[in-house]
Parts: sequence; structure tokens; C-alpha cells
Amino acid sequence: MATSVSRNIALFEKCRNYTKAREAQAAGLYPYFTPIHESEDTVVKIGGKSKVMMGSNNYLGLTHHPKVLEAAEAALKKYGSGCTGSRFLNGTLDLHEKLEAELAEFLNKESCLVFSTGYQANLGVVSGLIGRGEVVFLDKLDHASIMDGAKLSFGEAVRFNHGDLQGLESKLAQYDRSKGALVIVDGVFSMEGDIADLPGLVRLAQKFGVALAVDDAHSIGVLGPTGAGTAEHFGLTADVDLIVGTFSKSLASIGGFVCGDEYVIHYLKHNSRPMIFTAALPASNTAGVLAALEVLRSEPERRAALWENTRRMQDGLRSLGYDLGPTETPIIPVLIGPMVDTLVIWRKLFDAGVFTNPVVPPAVPAEACRLRVSLMATHTKEQVDFGLEQFAKVGRELGVKA
Ligand code: PMP
Repeated sequence: MATSVSRNIALFEKCRNYTKAREAQAAGLYPYFTPIHESEDTVVKIGGKSKVMMGSNNYLGLTHHPKVLEAAEAALKKYGSGCTGSRFLNGTLDLHEKLEAELAEFLNKESCLVFSTGYQANLGVVSGLIGRGEVVFLDKLDHASIMDGAKLSFGEAVRFNHGDLQGLESKLAQYDRSKGALVIVDGVFSMEGDIADLPGLVRLAQKFGVALAVDDAHSIGVLGPTGAGTAEHFGLTADVDLIVGTFSKSLASIGGFVCGDEYVIHYLKHNSRPMIFTAALPASNTAGVLAALEVLRSEPERRAALWENTRRMQDGLRSLGYDLGPTETPIIPVLIGPMVDTLVIWRKLFDAGVFTNPVVPPAVPAEACRLRVSLMATHTKEQVDFGLEQFAKVGRELGVKA
């Protein structure tokens, strides 16, 4: 049996006193770390019961695509289960270089660097580039990995209100132009589902001579005529200096990347600690991403299906009276308000067979709690309608909407 240390250690007092999560567990309103024991694309099994998955980032439904699974399996056999070391020293595979070449070509950039997660890609780009005396400008709703990259860097972080380009302009006007500076935003904001105003950001980046980076975690495979993301969506690829992304969403795996000019990527390759001091992406994941990228490019009908499902869900929820905020993408926040109401609705949907994600403080302000619904290309119309029926029922029961 495991032993517990009984010493009273000041450091752990906050752990003993941390009761919030246990209270939610006791009330049956704890939505986190729920173990899935079977997954078949749009349906998962939890506690022996099937749920329609409406809370993943598996936008194109590629995690179970036969070509992705075959490629991952073959690479697992050929290269083994892990790289057991850093890209820098002993962990670079020919597969990593192939993936970097293909991503650079897909995103129309000179060069690419693969990281072990998207989180590390943002950490590595921001902390790798922003040195002492330099500045990074951040949208307040940028992903945590961008914020953490700024904390890890030796430079200064300046935050502007979400989407407030006038505010950004006045902050840019105050900074010393002889210093290096970067503006970095999410291409699609992960909790709101809105798209960054890239034309406005490009104008400011050019006016003030600063670099511009976009985190396309939720845009690759989703936005743009070929699914190449936010810059392609606006026809501004040549004006965005760096495109960061993840493999944990449309590309159905884990890992991250940054694409940009060769000399910038070369510098990051030798100066980005979150890439150098961690083990490389395993072969099976890398090969799976290569296959997913190929499917993404050769099956544009998946992106069309994703958007069709998105519109059906958004229109349906809006006609039930739900407030979806400013979303323009397959990330659909259903704004509820108070935390308890949000958790009660989440639980009722869950029990009825619909998996969504409740978003509560500190991710959002206390009065702006929401359910985050996200759609996949592979959801059937019947599944979307089933989700809508459950939202209608819950809304009626609780008198929330409709
Ligand atoms: N950027 C954004 C906008 C994200 O939403 C996420 C993941 N939630 C990441 C970066 C990190 O990606 P990963 O899961 O690959 O670490």
C-alpha cells in the first residue's frame, strides 16, 4: 500500500486546503479528467455509455482515418516507440525533416521547425526570439502558451484588449522603435471562436516595423481555400512573418511547428530552449501527421463537411435562443453566464449523451461561463440534430432558453 508522509510542510498547506475540485466532485458537477475508454471518431464511451463527442479539436475527424493509422503503425515498427532524446542531439529523424519540408510548402513559407507540442512551439518562438530589452505585444485572449512564452522570455510583455487594434496602435506608438518587437495573436481564438483581424494587424506591423506571428492552432485545416489557415483566409501569407501551429487538432496527433523565413527558423533551431531541451516527437506521431496532412490536402470535402456541420449547429442553437457570442468558426461557445448553471447544463447534456466542455474561471470571467461546443467533419446530420435536441430539452427544463 502507498504510504503517506505525515510531516506538516508549509509548502503543501495550500494543497491540503484546496477543496474546490472535491466539492464539485461531491456535487456531481466535476467535468475534468473524465476517462474515455473507447473512441470511434465522433462517438466516445465513458463509464460504459456512448456520448456524441462535441468537445474535441479533431476538426477533420482524422484521428481514426485508415491512412493515418497505417502510417503511424508502420513508423512505430520501423523507428521504435520513442526518440529518447532531443532533436538537437540524437532525436532528429528523416521523418521530422520530411514533415518540416511539407509544412513549409503547404503554408507557402521558406522553412519550418517541428516541436514536440504546440504549447512548446509558442513557448519556443516567443522566448527564443524576445531577448532582453525587446517587446512582445499580446492580445489578452491569446492562448496560455503564448503568455507563458512571454513569461519565459527576458523581454517585456505588453498586453492589449482582445481585438482592440486602436489600443494596440497606441501601445506600438509608445515603444522604442530601435528595439526588436513582435505582435502575436491567435488566428482563431480558442474560447470565443472569432478570427483575428489580420488585415488590421498587418497594417500595424508594417507601419511600426515589427514582426507579426499568428498561432494557427484552430485554423489549419479549417480556414483558407486550401485549409492553410488564417493568413491564407485573408490572402496575406506573405505579410505574416511566422505561422505557429499544432498537430493536436486538425492534424490528429500531438506536436507543433513554426514556419517562416529560413534565417529566422535557423536561429530558432539553435536558440529555442523548449525545442532543444526536450525529447523529439515520436516517429509514429510524425508519420501520422504526414499522412493527416496528405488527407487534409487531398480531401477538401472534409473541410466543406466541417463547415456544413458548423452552420447547422450554429443556426440551430441560435434559433433555440442561445447566445453564441462572436464566433465565426467551428468553435461554438454557448454563453450561459453563472458557473453553477453552466455546470448543471453540462451535466444534463452529458447524461443525455452529448459531450461538451464547460469553460469557467479562471479561463473566463465569473459571469461569462459557457459551454464550448466544437464540431467535426465526420459528425452526421443526425448527430448534430441529436445535440440540438438535447440543448432544446435542457433549455426548456431549466428555463434557460427556448
Ligand atoms: N495554441 C492554441 C490557440 C491552442 O488552443 C492550443 C491547445 N489548446 C495550443 C496552442 C497548444 O497546442 P498543443 O495541444 O499542441 O500543446
